[in-house]
Amino acid sequence: MAHFTTLAELVEQGVAGKRVLVRSDLNVPLDGSTITDDGRIRASVPTIRTLAEAGARVVVTAHLGRPKGAPDPAYSLRPVAARLGELLGSEVLFAGDTVGEAAHETVHSLEDGQVVVLENVRFNAGETSKDDAERGAFADRLAGLADVFVSDGFGVVHRKQASVYDVAQRLPHALGGLVQAEVDVLRRLTVEPERPYVVVLGGSKVSDKLGVIDNLLGKADKLLVGGGMVFTFLKAQGHEVGKSLLEEDQVEVCREYLQRAVDSGVELLLPTDVVVDTAFPSGDRTPEPQVVAASEIPADALGLDIGPESARAFAGALVGARTVFWNGPMGVFEVDAFADGTRAVAQALTEVTADGGLSVVGGGDSAAAVRTLGFEESAFGHISTGGGASLEYLEGKVLPGIQVLEDDE
Ligand code: ADP
Ligand code: MG
Repeated sequence: MAHFTTLAELVEQGVAGKRVLVRSDLNVPLDGSTITDDGRIRASVPTIRTLAEAGARVVVTAHLGRPKGAPDPAYSLRPVAARLGELLGSEVLFAGDTVGEAAHETVHSLEDGQVVVLENVRFNAGETSKDDAERGAFADRLAGLADVFVSDGFGVVHRKQASVYDVAQRLPHALGGLVQAEVDVLRRLTVEPERPYVVVLGGSKVSDKLGVIDNLLGKADKLLVGGGMVFTFLKAQGHEVGKSLLEEDQVEVCREYLQRAVDSGVELLLPTDVVVDTAFPSGDRTPEPQVVAASEIPADALGLDIGPESARAFAGALVGARTVFWNGPMGVFEVDAFADGTRAVAQALTEVTADGGLSVVGGGDSAAAVRTLGFEESAFGHISTGGGASLEYLEGKVLPGIQVLEDDE
């Protein structure tokens, strides 16, 4: 198996006085400048703290949102840096640019053990450029700020971007603690998972998750499907789905998956009842939820959650599981009237954990869902910080941001 320099090994080699560039994932949801869920910042703290305590001069680079390759105050990391300081319990400096004068000045003023957060790396067009030379030129500037690189932004390791990929080719590098923890868990889901192994998939679009379904149909014992993707499956079974989310062009693929599940002896569970309403929830309308059979969705209704009977069936299917991977909410959990299915699945996962099984929650919205629904993070075996990255790993894809960290033999 490939060898990586771990954070512990790097620290053992000595980092005191060295400038260590850490790529973290600090991409948190913001309401104005208020952070509505700081889960990713908290997940980034241990690696940063370990380095700072070892005397490194820690230079954190990260992105926020999708600015268009130029500075945009709406996506400034300044409030994130402040929150990081609170969580670390020590001052965190902030540089008003990523690789410019402000960054250079602050980085060179750092004392041992101090931390600076550089402004949003995506304010620079080179970060996400498809042009290798343009990305490389930006990576040169980023690498110029530090002596060593630590990759800890699990949510971006599936991206071939300057601060994730190219910079690792320019500096000695190590695997951050968070990335290592994520990869260790994902390995337990793919290499001889303890059985029964149950996968729960939901969320909005089936097309986002085709690769995972494809891969897991050969590995999991049970596959439970909820969320918006259900309706494309129901359509494939010949049911009408009213105004529910439907991806017509995936109906045939879903039909194939249903058949493959039968052929390979995988138990594929779809909801038998759904909670519907006549309009998608919005601020100016009180929801009027109604439970109907999944095979009898009225023409003017749209499905917004799995129904109570299905929620019980899904929870029941999780009893006794030794390994569970869950990605994608069961319904529009952001609105209380449509959160019960997601709550039931989350609850069932906590029971798997309590029984000594491994429960893993993957996906940005799923992770936010368990937190906003009031579950303790410790009630789950692992809450992944990277939706896309964990899905791509489970699809069996090579993650460029991890591959680039492998040490040469
Ligand atoms: P994750 O980020 O965990 O991978 P996704 O991004 O795939 O999850 O999906 C999350 C979104 O799916 C949520 O915002 C939720 O409101 C939406 N969703 C869930 N069920 C439905 C549904 N029946 N119809 C429309 N949207 C849904
Ligand atoms: Mg999402």
